[in-house]
Amino acid sequence: MECIFCKIINEEIPSYTIYEDDKVKAFLDIEPDVNGHTLIIPKKHYTDISDLDNETLTHIFDVARYLKSLMETKLQIDGLTLVQNNGDVQEVKHFHLHLKPHYQEEQVLLPVEDVYEKLKES
Ligand code: AMP
Ligand code: ZN
Repeated sequence: MECIFCKIINEEIPSYTIYEDDKVKAFLDIEPDVNGHTLIIPKKHYTDISDLDNETLTHIFDVARYLKSLMETKLQIDGLTLVQNNGDVQEVKHFHLHLKPHYQEEQVLLPVEDVYEKLKES
């Protein structure tokens, strides 16, 4: 099994996981464009939008909605862009939805572990 995201699901590779259930996992991108940059992936290996089933897609968007709310509370985000790459523009060939927060004020890019702590604190 060479897929890096399958290895994250199997916990062979560590991740800053901020949400998980039996169908999906959401973790912080290791090379964030912005504080809170997150990826949501299905636990089953799908390559891209061509083979992902609608039920899983709907669930991924339910989780995106939950994480938007979490980021509003914990990171004070002002907006959120969802991006999903396919084919030539997709680096990791395991379906993933990027969540990229926006902030009205310019932000210093924090270490991923600091963002993780903010999202996890109660
Ligand atoms: P894409 O171009 O849509 O395939 O983007 C793949 C994303 O996965 C990039 O933003 C990478 O920074 C991210 N990524 C790659 N390896 C890891 C990892 N081990 N943990 C978290 N994010 C990763
Ligand atoms: Zn995979």
